[in-house]
Amino acid sequence: MNGRRAKERRRILRERNAQLLTEIRTAEARYLEPWGKAFETWRKGPALLFLPTIGDDYPPDLKQAVAVRREAAFTGRCPCGLEVRISPVGVYEVRHGRECPANWGVFQALAEAAGVTADHQGMLETYGR
Ligand SMILES: [Zn+2]
Repeated sequence: MNGRRAKERRRILRERNAQLLTEIRTAEARYLEPWGKAFETWRKGPALLFLPTIGDDYPPDLKQAVAVRREAAFTGRCPCGLEVRISPVGVYEVRHGRECPANWGVFQALAEAAGVTADHQGMLETYGR
């Protein structure tokens, strides 16, 4: 592949991603169905969201982490300086700061400590785009 063609491909990809992010940001979130015991799926424009649910029996720190994670998925914003992007294969990724309670590693540790299985990556996927 020559340099000009590679550059053109990157430009097309960048434009596709910017378009997807706009569609996701502006779309209304629609609840779909439960996903295992501790997650549920939502659709937000072209993105499918896997979100943890808040269990009544969760300790306060886990409830807080779930609430922050859900809010960030719905709004695309988080006080931690959330990074939102479309990966090269078209997966909508929401990455929280390392110290954020909604950071996947922090969230998973809180869930494990509470005896909750949090084995889903909680990624948001876009279909076929
Ligand atoms: Zn965050």
